[in-house]
Amino acid sequence: MGPFAISRRKKSEKNRFIFKNVLNFSLLVLFLTLECGAKCHWGFWAHKRINRLAVFRLPVEMQVFYKKYTDYLSENAVNPDKRRYAVVGEAERHFIDLDVYGDSAFAVLPKYWQAAVQKIGEDSLRKHGIVPWHVQIAASQLTAAFREKNTSRILRISVDLGHYIADAHVPLHTTRNYNGQLTGQDGIHGFWESRLPELFAEDYDMWLGPAVYRKDIARDIWKVVEDSHAAMDSVLLFEQQLTEIFKADKKYSFELRNNVLTRMHSREFSEKYHHMLAGQVEKRMRASVQMVGDIWYTSWVNAGQPDLATLINSGVDETEPNTEAAEPQSWLQRLLNVRAESDN
Ligand SMILES: [Zn+2]
Repeated sequence: MGPFAISRRKKSEKNRFIFKNVLNFSLLVLFLTLECGAKCHWGFWAHKRINRLAVFRLPVEMQVFYKKYTDYLSENAVNPDKRRYAVVGEAERHFIDLDVYGDSAFAVLPKYWQAAVQKIGEDSLRKHGIVPWHVQIAASQLTAAFREKNTSRILRISVDLGHYIADAHVPLHTTRNYNGQLTGQDGIHGFWESRLPELFAEDYDMWLGPAVYRKDIARDIWKVVEDSHAAMDSVLLFEQQLTEIFKADKKYSFELRNNVLTRMHSREFSEKYHHMLAGQVEKRMRASVQMVGDIWYTSWVNAGQPDLATLINSGVDETEPNTEAAEPQSWLQRLLNVRAESDN
């Protein structure tokens, strides 16, 4: 074989190598896009709506600032979900597997983070989700941001806090059977929190009164996860009952989503299930909006009600480091470590 042939072979190997890597990368991007595009929790639509509606519950002194940034608060409401693959310590902020702690989870688990770390250990807590503690932490971070009058931090933490509070209201965010995978009901997570609100939430009554001060955030957020957990049985049971009486070929239909033909729960199945739940999704969504507005308001009151009118024109500094988020992780770590919990 002459030198020309060798160099040709080398060139074709090099091309093959590049092609293989480009293909791998494209598949990875496609995988992540489909994972998040087709099934993200409290669906993207609902998270955006919850943050937007919460603004309207605020007192005038806060609305003067928050109304200017309503689009920001709504558009970025899904940031914490997007970060789940990029940031160590993000994924566990969205859920708590209460069933891991047995029937007396609420008696076993301390209300406050430090006491919980001492009793259970931080690694174990993080493994099974920390949403009720993280909401408390984020609320005090918001109070600190108000005291500093730091516009970027106020907005960023308000966005994230709205997201975590909303997630705590979702029944399937309180169980290790988060996607029905232990009961042969795979896909129920996205069905409840994405498909149903997208189909029916336009008709929900979201008219809520003004925000109220919460004097015990810890108690209230624990009550939220307790209520979510209590609702979990019917979420699973009704789907099971309906599946038994429904013709198999009528349970699902195919719809175009982001130009991808995707298998979804059919409209007929969704309507029947939604009816059986008797307003459950609406109640959890209303309670989310209520608490998001209340905790934003409470954090502001706890900071001494600073004058937000002076911050209206300061804008968001996107270059400022996000100190509330943990360190970025490599793409390999992301794929290996992040539990699929909230992708559904
Ligand atoms: Zn989430």
